Amino acid sequence: MTKQILFLISLLITLGVFSWTIHRLYGFIKQTKPFPISDYGKRFNMMMKVAIGQTKILRFPFTGILHALVFWGFLVILVGSIEMVIDGIFGTERALSSLGIVYDIITASGDVFALIIAIAILIFLARRLFMNIRRFSGIEMEHKSHLDANIALSLILLLMVSLLGMNVYYFVLNPDSPEGYFPVSMFIVQQFIPLHSLDFHTAHVMHEIYWWSHILLIFIFANVLPYSKHFHVFMSVPNVFLSRLEPLGKLYNMPEITKEVKLMMNPDTAFAAPAEGEEAPPSRFGVKDVEDVTWKNYLDSLTCTECGRCTSVCPANITGKKLSPRKIIMDVRARMKEKGPGMVKKGRDFDDQKALIRDYISPEELWACTTCNACAQECPVNINHPSIIVDMRRYLVMEESAAPGELNGMFTNIENNGAPWQFSPEDRMLWAEGLEVPTMADKMAKGEKPEYLFWVGSAGAFDDRYKKVTREFVKILNHLNIDYAVLGTEETDSGDIARRGGNEMLFQMQAMMNIEIMNAYEVKKIITCCPHDFNTLKNEYPDYEGSYEVMHHSQFLQKLIESGKVNITDGQFKDKKITFHDPCYLGRGNGEYEAPRDVLKAIPGEKVEMKRNKSFGLCCGAGGGQMFKEAEKGDKEVFIERTEEAIETGADIICTACPFCMVMMTDGIKYKNQEEKMKNYDIAEMVSMSLGL
Ligand code: SF4
Ligand code: SF4
Repeated sequence: MTKQILFLISLLITLGVFSWTIHRLYGFIKQTKPFPISDYGKRFNMMMKVAIGQTKILRFPFTGILHALVFWGFLVILVGSIEMVIDGIFGTERALSSLGIVYDIITASGDVFALIIAIAILIFLARRLFMNIRRFSGIEMEHKSHLDANIALSLILLLMVSLLGMNVYYFVLNPDSPEGYFPVSMFIVQQFIPLHSLDFHTAHVMHEIYWWSHILLIFIFANVLPYSKHFHVFMSVPNVFLSRLEPLGKLYNMPEITKEVKLMMNPDTAFAAPAEGEEAPPSRFGVKDVEDVTWKNYLDSLTCTECGRCTSVCPANITGKKLSPRKIIMDVRARMKEKGPGMVKKGRDFDDQKALIRDYISPEELWACTTCNACAQECPVNINHPSIIVDMRRYLVMEESAAPGELNGMFTNIENNGAPWQFSPEDRMLWAEGLEVPTMADKMAKGEKPEYLFWVGSAGAFDDRYKKVTREFVKILNHLNIDYAVLGTEETDSGDIARRGGNEMLFQMQAMMNIEIMNAYEVKKIITCCPHDFNTLKNEYPDYEGSYEVMHHSQFLQKLIESGKVNITDGQFKDKKITFHDPCYLGRGNGEYEAPRDVLKAIPGEKVEMKRNKSFGLCCGAGGGQMFKEAEKGDKEVFIERTEEAIETGADIICTACPFCMVMMTDGIKYKNQEEKMKNYDIAEMVSMSLGL
């Protein structure tokens, strides 16, 4: 009875403190913005795959398998912990033993996992204490972060030792008829504790000491976790369940901007009275401080394990820039810890004369992002860093007009010329000189509706190097009698760079103008050579009533090859070594790694992969508006790092499938003085040349 009373007191204190912590966090969550959640079935599948299946963690086999074993072990041991709570409350012993064989399995796996977890934790501690692992360091990793990690790991180690100790003495007390099965503990007893060396009383006391140590450690652990990076033990499964389902390349819409743009484009509705129940316009666009983030952003920050996997793959960070995606997430948590109590007391308007931007995160960090999504791809708990980075850029651009000067110039060009450069919109078809290229207007005049719209894109129409690619691709289309047309001078910039540069207003205006034209022509299928436009048209235009079947040219060429319409017999590359650079917005952004590789397979020649390829591929450094501005200060430019990796393969050709990647790789080859040895071709050029067009 005394044991039960003591247990109940401990349990109530634990639950009380835990509830207070959760109540405090809930108070903070209430200060954030809404974030809609739907598609529970898909979410469940993702949770099973990423959180329970640990698929992302397992991308790095050694630490991955150790971490996965710890996680799975925790799940099994959790059942044993629930049983201890039942025993503690009701004064029973091994309350779940009536489960028979199931109980044997649970206890046996719990016993084995306790040992495995203890070993894994010792390895983790050794890595942290004695090895210089880059991802454990960084400006955001203060002494407290390391201490916090080591305390949490030590607590887990003690938990496992106490669990094994409890099992060992339970077996000593019940050598002939234990409830359950304890292979590790039995082995320890048989090897190290002669059964007759202990009297019953001592064994009983030892069992009780371990039992209490274990349950009290669980109670302490539960209340320490919410204040440490190991809160992910609780948070990772729900956070993955609630994480985004959309392709990584898609940025979330800002409905408040959509409303404004629609009003601008259709002034008749400008003075329409707001509908009943319509939300008040937001106090500001984008994210300046923690009250502007969504509750999901804040949940992400609470879930972050500080593992640094995101920062270790960030091209900006790798090349010495200040940006660290882990720091961005940790800063959200730290800022809420600072401002949250004031907002809970005084309301969301509470102003402590500080903000997330500038006091925690500098514009320099934000502008260094290429939106390559390497961080989001790697994060084991599915945190999406680029979306919050772009939200902060949105604030800087739309509220403070504080974009870097070069980006402002690019925005102005898009506004005035429909392209990021100073070219006249009338010149949009100059790339096609000497070629037969039908326009949608021509086709419509003849009463024809082409099967495909070939979306040329601004780079395809104006960038000198990429105009050649556009021409080669059109030659392929003409050669194969594909029923297509282009918009010609009716096409205007897709808005991708404007959006990633934070100018959501400009993006939506571009999107709506293009959609209006494409819908007027009843466009159904689109092919484009630009992965950025591919992503924008495919994933982002549907938010504005522009839904099309969009194909990247590598996917289109892959289909033509598969169907036998393109048959390459020419071996002009057969003695060449070719490496493929994955464009971020085709690969990570939309999960397409195989189409370009399948096309290359059909072209004779030796194919080699760079060290970082497919979903691990390194960005070329151009995305997110970077191509239009000076890079932030660092040790190296991203495109140089990537070109060096391509050179390491000994390839004669870097094959790309993106206008931005082409510019960066071409610059890289020049910078490394490799122009004689190495060429850079787009996949369309390689097909066209192989077909002798
Ligand atoms: S999107 Fe790319 S550049 Fe931006 S923070 Fe993530 S890894 Fe770094
Ligand atoms: S954001 Fe994700 S990958 Fe980055 S440190 Fe946190 S948990 Fe790790």
